[in-house]
Amino acid sequence: MSGQQDASAATFDVVIRGGRVIDPANRLDGRFDVGVKDGVIAAVAADLPTAQAARVIDAAGKLVTPGLIDTHAHVFQHIAGPFGLNPDEVGVQSGVATLIDQGGPSCLTLDGFRKFIVEPAKTRVRCFLSTYLAGGLYGHIHSSLYGPEQINVDATVRAIRANPDIVVGLKSHAEPGHYSRWGLAVLEKSKEIAREAGVPTYVHLGTLWPVLDGRTVDPQALLVEMIPLMDEGDILAHPFTRHPSGFTDEAGQVHPLVFEAMARGVMIDVGRGNHFSIKVARQVLDAGVMPDTLGADLHGYNISRGGARRAVAAFATANDGKLQTGMDPTAVGGDDPAFSLYYAMSEMLALGVDLPHLVAMTTSNAARMCRLGDTLGSLAVGRASDVAILDLQTGDFTMRDGCGETMTSTQRLRPHLALQGGVVMEPVSELLPAWERRAA
Ligand SMILES: [Zn+2]
Repeated sequence: MSGQQDASAATFDVVIRGGRVIDPANRLDGRFDVGVKDGVIAAVAADLPTAQAARVIDAAGKLVTPGLIDTHAHVFQHIAGPFGLNPDEVGVQSGVATLIDQGGPSCLTLDGFRKFIVEPAKTRVRCFLSTYLAGGLYGHIHSSLYGPEQINVDATVRAIRANPDIVVGLKSHAEPGHYSRWGLAVLEKSKEIAREAGVPTYVHLGTLWPVLDGRTVDPQALLVEMIPLMDEGDILAHPFTRHPSGFTDEAGQVHPLVFEAMARGVMIDVGRGNHFSIKVARQVLDAGVMPDTLGADLHGYNISRGGARRAVAAFATANDGKLQTGMDPTAVGGDDPAFSLYYAMSEMLALGVDLPHLVAMTTSNAARMCRLGDTLGSLAVGRASDVAILDLQTGDFTMRDGCGETMTSTQRLRPHLALQGGVVMEPVSELLPAWERRAA
């Protein structure tokens, strides 16, 4: 139990009272109060005194967890073109305390990411640095910017070493479009950078670019070649992708090497995005693969109004009219916000993931993935007071994936309030699905 000091004499800035506290890092699951003072967690105990508290939040019937960490965000706004979203709209205004940008900034643009995104944002923003000199401009649509010649190992290692406060890993890709052009040369250079700099590599699976004319790529052969390059702590992303070259073959069987990788400590991140397929998710979960973390993978092509049309137009311009597999305006997301980190959590519940593991995916496991477990992802006394208060609703709900397939659920989550450094934030982001959003 945290908060063993004399709680009866304590005064708090905020007391969150009577919620079901789930704090996987401290193996806590039960009805407790959370006291916050001076921007840090001051006590977690039953029946904290509230008489002196500046604010008491009634969390009866709600879930109270460490501040949520979205392990896959795209918030290099104005630099990544329409792909990059506003960090606070994805973050604290959507009930998310910490965002991990996946591959937006590069060694060339990291200083701008620090000055224009990390420093002004109320949301805590960290990144997996891009392997490529260009970074994730416009969502990597100009394929010629992303070959092995467009990588500088030494400069990228130097940038990671010089910025340990904001760079927590390296972003790379292993997908058929890349493979048809350069084999695994990109991933090999990524691993060289990451091993030299001592950070994990986050690897995107699932078709991103059209396969080069005249080539064919066997997605399972790609998996067989790339998995041995993964080290303990590296991350395989998009296990539920509806695009070829995920974890499953055409018959829906998970490749045995996936289990071998898990046994070696390779982590798995959902990376929901427009990849998510209910059918594939069921195949992968039924095979016994439980992802460690849950990134929402929101970006300007799958969430903001008109984003899908912009993505198709941009991809067609950049790739001589050719689109990635399955890319059409209806399949990459409609014009209204369709999902969020909370929505992705609701989908995991509907697929049978249990609530304590789901909370670990978005708190303690996410912190471990980023090697931030000493500072984030827990409600231990003395930690920064990032707290999420979630509303778990029951009813009959229908959820829809990027293929148009639906599933029903009796539960869903939505943000109620979030504390960021002790400041209470309301879920008012226009990026949230309407029923998750609080009227401003
Ligand atoms: Zn992404």
